[in-house]
Order: sequence, then C-alpha cells, then structure tokens
Amino acid sequence: MTNKQVRVRYAPSPTGQLHIGGARTALFNYLFARKMGGTFILRIEDTDQTRHVEDAEAKQMEGLSWLGIKWDEGVAAGGDYGPCRQSERLAIYAEYLQQLPEKGAAYECFCTEEELAEERAAQEARGETPMYSGKCRNLTSQEKEKLRADGRKPTLRFLVPKEQIVVHEDLVRGRVEFETNGIGDFIIARPDGIPMYNFACVIDDYTMKISHVIRGEEHLSNTPRQLLLYEAFGWDKPQFAHISLILNPDRKKMSKRDESIIQFVEQYKELGYLPEAVVNFIALLGWSPKGEEELFTLAELEQEFDLKRIQKSPAIFDTEKLAWMNNTYMKQADSERITELSLPHLQRAGRLPQELDEAQRTYVKELVQLYQDRMRAASDIVGLTELFFREEVKYEAEAAEITQESHVKEVAHAFLAQVRNADDFSAESIGPLIKNVQKETGYKGKQLFMPIRVVLTGQNHGPDLNRTIHLLGRERVIRRLEQFVQSATS
Ligand code: GLU
Repeated sequence: MTNKQVRVRYAPSPTGQLHIGGARTALFNYLFARKMGGTFILRIEDTDQTRHVEDAEAKQMEGLSWLGIKWDEGVAAGGDYGPCRQSERLAIYAEYLQQLPEKGAAYECFCTEEELAEERAAQEARGETPMYSGKCRNLTSQEKEKLRADGRKPTLRFLVPKEQIVVHEDLVRGRVEFETNGIGDFIIARPDGIPMYNFACVIDDYTMKISHVIRGEEHLSNTPRQLLLYEAFGWDKPQFAHISLILNPDRKKMSKRDESIIQFVEQYKELGYLPEAVVNFIALLGWSPKGEEELFTLAELEQEFDLKRIQKSPAIFDTEKLAWMNNTYMKQADSERITELSLPHLQRAGRLPQELDEAQRTYVKELVQLYQDRMRAASDIVGLTELFFREEVKYEAEAAEITQESHVKEVAHAFLAQVRNADDFSAESIGPLIKNVQKETGYKGKQLFMPIRVVLTGQNHGPDLNRTIHLLGRERVIRRLEQFVQSATS
C-alpha cells in the first residue's frame, strides 16, 4: 500500500552532533516514509539560540548522509513548504501567534523570572507540583498598560482549559491520556516574540502537512500541550508515535556523559564502522522485523519497516551485538574499502607515514585481507597487526608457556635453516618449507605449526600461518627465529 499523503519529519535542534537516539528517530521516519511512498522532511528547530551549537546543523546532516538517510524536503533539499529552519519562519509564527489571544486561547503574562521562581518555591513548600498560577489570566487593559509603562515585557501564555482530558491514540503506546489540570498555562512566545518549541512545532507540523509525528518518548509530555494547540486553532491533528527510550547495556537511562557506549554517529565513522552495519543496528533498537533474520540492507529495511512492530518497552543498546553486526558486514566488504578505512588508523598510530607508496599500500591491503574476518571496526587493525610493526616478539602468556615445551626449539631450529635457504618467500612458498621441517623433525600437525606460530608471532592463535609468515618478511622471520634459538640455548 502506498500513501502519497504520508509526510513525516526529523526535527533536530542544532545543539550537537547526531546522537544515536536522533539517528534512530530519523531512520524510523525515513523508513516509514519510504515504506508508505511518503515524504521525509528535515527541519531544523533552532529557535532557542542559547542552546545553539555552531556546526551542529552541518554535523546532523553529515551524520544522516553517512548513514544513507536521504531527506526529500527540508534544509538543503527545498520543497514547497519551506523554509525549514525555524529561525527563518518567524514571520509565519507571528501570524499564528496573533490569532490565539483573539480566540481567547492565549494571554500576555508580565510575571518576572523572580516572581515565577518565588511562586514555584511557595508551591513546592506546600508540597504541590509547581505550575503557573494563571495570575495574569485576567489582567485588565489598564493593568497591562501600567505594567508596560513600568518597562515589563510580556511573554505569551497558552490558556490551558481546566477539567479536561486530552487523549491521543499513540501508534506505539496505544491510548494516552493527560488531565489538563496537571498542565499549567505554558509560554508559547518569549517577550521578543520568538516562539517556544511547542508552539513552533505545531505551526510547522500543521503548515508542512505532517501526517505522522514519530519521535522519542521524551517528548510524550509535550504532546498534550501540542494537542491543545491544534484544538485551539481548530486544526486536524497528525498521528503520533512515541518511540521508547534507548537504555545503555546496564539497562540504565542513557546519559550523554556515559562512556560505556559510543553515542554519536560521527564517532562510529571515525572508528571505521560501516554505515550499513550501523543503520542495521539502529533499525533494531526498538523495532523488530517479522522473521528471525537480523541482517538488513537499508533497501530491505525500506520494504520491511512497519510502525506496528515498534516495541513499547525500552530498547537496550547491546554493544556486543553492534560489534558482531559490524564484523559481519566487514567480513563481506571489499578489502580495498576496508583498507581505505584502516589506513588512517595505522597512520595515527605512527605505523605508517602520511604519504604512502604503492608497496606500503599493498602491504596494508594484504594485512587487511589477513585480518578482515576478525575486525569489529577498522580501528581494530592497529591492535591486530602490532606484531608486524615491531622488531622483537612480544609473547602473550599462553604463548610464552608453549615456548617452554622441548620440541619448540627443535622445530624453530629446523625452520630457521629452511628460511635461510629459501629464495622465494611468497605465501605459497611457505607451506613447502614447513613440510620440509616436518620431514626433518618428524613433528606434524599442531606440534609442527604451533611452535612456528608462537615463536614468530608471540601468539598461540591467529590467521593463516603461511600468509602471516610471508607478511612478516624473510629478514624479520630469520631474526625472530635466531633470537629464539639463541635464548632457548643459553
Ligand atoms: N527539536 C526536538 C528535538 O530535537 C524535536 C521535537 C519533535 O520531534 O517534535 O528533540
């Protein structure tokens, strides 16, 4: 089923980089639009200049683009309903702001910050939930004139009707009810006329013909305020879908300071994750497909996505699953691509110069091909290939133990002789050399291969041995074998 009328939006405030939670909201909106043949809009909610972060808008867009999430309308994409930056829509808001006092749905409030703080403190002292008292609701024109003459500049407050229940059928959470008695008259415009979030959001969603508001659960408490605004204007409301929170692996609320998880999309990019893996992972944060399958390309997600399958309970950010998923995608990826992603990490670690010649590049590509199956992110290349960039072998504990076994020295000795005599040192030529050691010493299988691996790499596990030896290079292999044989003799 397609529905040309589906129009959804991702509406970040430019207060920072693209967070994993924001990316999920954007992705769900995008997928829903694609699935329904609708339109996905990017809107920037930048009316609060105090929270504005330079570059944040660009970072948000970069993050979305990296993930492959394209928007059909909005900032940098145009469309018939722009501008899509709230700071450029002030004239539109002014027009609608004016209508509410005329309808008796909003009033000027002259209370100062200090007065409001006192009022809150007194309410708290009485054990009440702080809520604006409505003090300025019934000011006469004379009273207002006097306050203005005193230099006071009013905010505009929405008059919340009492004794009502605001209801909406949330597409994720089902029926949600709020009593208006629990909602104080809220500010919709500051003294300078700049609208507050709830107001600007409603005007935008209405004028941009948004059909579904899909956003994080943290906005659920804004919804009754927004619904009341729709009612005051007499407008049809969009449908709402509030997506549950993402909890950190300890099932605690994710805080931006929490370092146990990587929270920003840009960080994943920097660590050399593949965007298709990150998108796949994010899609499963609170949404699940019909079957058991967990691996989906973006194009497949566009087909599979269904709002009905968004879960009500919180999503748990499973770092292990993300690593598994990225590894799965990395294994399948072209090694040229993984090499490109790996190079900067090796350069940053000081393993390679900034300018690479062809031989160095080829060498890294061969290393990548050797370790690609084990990489959970491109940055892993640094740790995985350390043994290729050091002179001495560094023995891991278990490997060190193995070197104590008596046959190790014998095998090492015989292999050293083979390597010294070898004139070819390609990966293909290593097998026959080891075979000769077998013939000479009589050791085979693990007894043959493990000593060679341990002595040359310091590890008792690793990728293909022949290719490892080839990439270590003849000189280094000779040196490591010599050192071992000598130290084992002394
Ligand atoms: N600007 C809001 C935010 O960044 C979005 C609110 C909404 O989607 O309605 O959280």
